[in-house]
Amino acid sequence: MSPPLNLVQTPSIPPATADVVVIGGGIIGIFTAYYLARRGVSVVVVEKGRVGAEQSSRNWGWCRQQNRDARELPMATKSIDLWEQFSAESGEDAGFTRCGLLYLSNDDEELARWASWGKFAKTAGVTTHMLDSRQAAERGHATGRAWKGGVFSPTDGTADPVKAAPAVARAVMKLGGSVIQQCAARGIEMEAGRVAGVVTEAGVIKTRTVVLAGGAWASSFCRQLDIRFPQASVRQSIMSVAPIDQPLPGALFTSGVAATRRSDGSYALAISGRARVDPTGQFLRFSPQFLPMFAKRWRSLSPGGLEALRSGHETMSRWRLDAPTPMERMRILDPKADPAAIRATHRRAIELLPELRNARVTHAWAGYVDSTPDGVPGIGETPQVPGLILAAGFSGHGFGIGPGAGHLIADLATGAEPLVDPRPYHPSRFAGSAWGKVADF
Ligand SMILES: Cc1cc2nc3c(=O)[nH]c(=O)nc-3n(C[C@H](O)[C@H](O)[C@H](O)COP(=O)(O)OP(=O)(O)OC[C@H]3O[C@@H](n4cnc5c(N)ncnc54)[C@H](O)[C@@H]3O)c2cc1C
Repeated sequence: MSPPLNLVQTPSIPPATADVVVIGGGIIGIFTAYYLARRGVSVVVVEKGRVGAEQSSRNWGWCRQQNRDARELPMATKSIDLWEQFSAESGEDAGFTRCGLLYLSNDDEELARWASWGKFAKTAGVTTHMLDSRQAAERGHATGRAWKGGVFSPTDGTADPVKAAPAVARAVMKLGGSVIQQCAARGIEMEAGRVAGVVTEAGVIKTRTVVLAGGAWASSFCRQLDIRFPQASVRQSIMSVAPIDQPLPGALFTSGVAATRRSDGSYALAISGRARVDPTGQFLRFSPQFLPMFAKRWRSLSPGGLEALRSGHETMSRWRLDAPTPMERMRILDPKADPAAIRATHRRAIELLPELRNARVTHAWAGYVDSTPDGVPGIGETPQVPGLILAAGFSGHGFGIGPGAGHLIADLATGAEPLVDPRPYHPSRFAGSAWGKVADF
């Protein structure tokens, strides 16, 4: 089942030329286009299905600095400010609120990890409060039980995945940018050793700069261009329940289950990290590079099925530019929710927050989280294809850092002063090993 997602009306025929073409209308591609259009750069986003319909509408909606890896923290901090500015400057509503994130635990090791992150965060100027058991019980009173402790990060918040990408797409179009749906990019045209155009199913768009923000499809697209981009997707399941009268915390994490209020008062419920691995040729090809990641996360992963093979997003085959590609056969990657995970999520959510007992279950869905070996995105121009900027592998964190990433990608595309140091994100690091470098959260 697909999650709820606002519709955005767009034309279906792309313009013949643009300064920048963005492939992929998820939160990353669409925020990139927004920050380009604000600078007066002519930009076209081509989206094979619907804006926001893959990972960007399937996530929890957390926009957090809390527990972020040091490489991503500067971007996370900038992103929170940019989320806030976005509604003010565009007049569009992405459902962002600085509701603060509440983490509760009875596990000493987990609490010690959070405390140690808190010390590091202080050096980066990020406010976060460790909670003792009394404070944790107070903040978490909706759970009606005792906790050893927790964390509250008051400057973090959530945006609404139902609204966000469509709202940004409308803002792009108001600024004169183009967003084209049902339009797959099949490949890149080169001239004199540089990008010269994007071949789409609706014709060629001439351009000198392309941003590949294709989410879980990025690695197979790169393979057509002889670019090696190690990427693995795992299937995570999530559900939502209808609004209830009793207000619960806006965003609550426990290791058993997490709950997030959406702007219509409904709640999204999920188990952090729990995922199915649906093996594919691409997965097997890159698995040696993912060993450090699996070694760290194996407890939450379990074997899946043949779904990803059928979906085609990790295809090993080469496709032609003059015939329909796997992207046109699979307009929206809509994997099946894992019934066992959904049952466990619902049961644990009711145990944690008894008020949810009477809330009607409205949706259950899944999404493929596109991960890199170290859990940090790949952002930067590819040396193999000058003019092509890779922007994928957001490893389960891309929604919250969407505005900061989009701003940075727009900076790279225009040669502007980068919002944050781009070096930790450069794809050249994928040539090395990820041992000792896997992001903690
Ligand atoms: C269950 C779940 C929970 C998550 N929770 C959070 C969270 O709380 N906070 C957070 O920060 N992140 C979270 N994430 C991760 C977050 O959703 C992603 O990192 C983020 O949405 C990635 O955005 P994207 O634009 O890179 O990819 P996507 O949203 O997947 O968008 C990529 C788009 O590119 C299009 N596309 C691909 N190839 C082509 C092509 N050749 N031509 C045209 N279009 C193409 C696709 O159709 C798709 O729409 C979660 C993810 C999941 C699945």
